[in-house]
Amino acid sequence: MGIELVYQQLKERIKPECIRLKEPMKEHTSFRIGGSADIMVLPDSARQIIDTVEICRSNSCPYYIMGNGTNLLVRDNGYRGVIIKTSANMKDCKVEGERVYGQSGILLSTLSKIIVSEGLEGFEYASGIPGTLGGAVTMNAGAYGGEIKDSIEWARVMNPDGDVMTYTKQQLELGYRTSIIQREDLIVLDCGLRFVRGDREAIQAKLDEYTRLRKAKQPLNVPSAGSTFKRPEGYYAGKLIEDAGLKGARIGDAQVSELHCGFIVNVGNATADDIIALINHVKKRVKERFNVELQPEVKVIGEP
Ligand SMILES: Cc1cc2nc3c(=O)[nH]c(=O)nc-3n(C[C@H](O)[C@H](O)[C@H](O)COP(=O)(O)OP(=O)(O)OC[C@H]3O[C@@H](n4cnc5c(N)ncnc54)[C@H](O)[C@@H]3O)c2cc1C
Repeated sequence: MGIELVYQQLKERIKPECIRLKEPMKEHTSFRIGGSADIMVLPDSARQIIDTVEICRSNSCPYYIMGNGTNLLVRDNGYRGVIIKTSANMKDCKVEGERVYGQSGILLSTLSKIIVSEGLEGFEYASGIPGTLGGAVTMNAGAYGGEIKDSIEWARVMNPDGDVMTYTKQQLELGYRTSIIQREDLIVLDCGLRFVRGDREAIQAKLDEYTRLRKAKQPLNVPSAGSTFKRPEGYYAGKLIEDAGLKGARIGDAQVSELHCGFIVNVGNATADDIIALINHVKKRVKERFNVELQPEVKVIGEP
């Protein structure tokens, strides 16, 4: 792979302000951790994503799609290849009656404000999830009993061969924090959602209540990637971790949050290695104590 050649070819098709070299990933992840990516592309259209992938593929250059980096841990030696980040410039959204169209990079917080202002109900749970629509579809993000699966109608996706297809909700195979997007390395370009009309004041009150709960129960003032682990069937990860005596456990500057044990937080200058070591420590202790295998929800990329 010749990264210079990839850069030259990208420059022929993508505006210079949308391409960055040696970009520090700690500035693009909610953990505030990560070495540099060789190249970062900030596409402003589906076309630019398609072009970027085509250039990477023809040069056998690795690429990775990200939204807002809120469920992502990038290793300390960075990423060799091209990171495509949607949240900077792919933020279009359109509301028509009860249907909402969004590009993959729009933030859920922005989208939920728009949806509430239209008097549409069913997206209140998403207002405090700090990711993008594309990231949320990929993870089937959810909270407080709601999830993307409840409102999505379709998503336009691209497969690793560069084919663009529209998948229905059924074809997306959305399950607890999973989808076909992850399993088949697809890229979400944009999607369509559908809601129902509701009482604006009641919708706003529900959203305010979720915001209050989040602020009370989650360590929002320290960098993290939200819940570090998936919820194991029949348990809550945070409770298992607390009961295993790990509240406040620390490796370097990575710490099991004292407010919510399901969150590993960066209390200073944690490295990705610190976070990974703490994840492994927590997994081991919970397995020994309760015979439950915790599965990380956070995605890890980059050079070890
Ligand atoms: C304080 C805090 C609270 C959180 N609360 C919640 C919560 O309540 N519920 C919840 O579900 N999550 C929560 N999260 C986690 C996170 O916000 C969600 O998982 C979110 O969906 C990730 O979106 P993102 O755009 O940041 O994705 P990223 O972190 O950038 O990427 C996550 C994964 O999605 C993939 N991806 C991103 N965009 C695309 C795309 N366009 N096409 C294909 N794949 C893509 C990436 O490749 C990666 O595998 C929280 C995180 C934080 C920091």
